[in-house]
Amino acid sequence: MGIHQMQSDLRAFARERDWEQFHSVKNLVMALSGEAGELSALLQWVEPGQIGAWIARPANREAASDEIADVLAYLLQVADGLDIDLEEAFTAKLAKNAAKYPVEKSRGVSTKYTELG
Ligand SMILES: [Mg+2]
Repeated sequence: MGIHQMQSDLRAFARERDWEQFHSVKNLVMALSGEAGELSALLQWVEPGQIGAWIARPANREAASDEIADVLAYLLQVADGLDIDLEEAFTAKLAKNAAKYPVEKSRGVSTKYTELG
């Protein structure tokens, strides 16, 4: 399923429930932030070396999948509400990041682009 189909499905989901009245861009951004927090909370106390074992448990995988889908759904709706094409935005931002972080300067280092020199 492509991005535009997902956005169309989300519009229909909200319309069928008369929820569009609640979906201001501001509210959607706050919901996006909340769902990102829910995803963070799942992993909050899981040590990096334990992630593999953690996600191997079906209940954890389902919970993480649900929160990731929630984040995606609100991100799709925010972009839809702002009439921003997500594929174009992603492509443009990846190109900007590639320019900011040239491989020869940034490979293997986590230095912010302003400090790469
Ligand atoms: Mg959630």
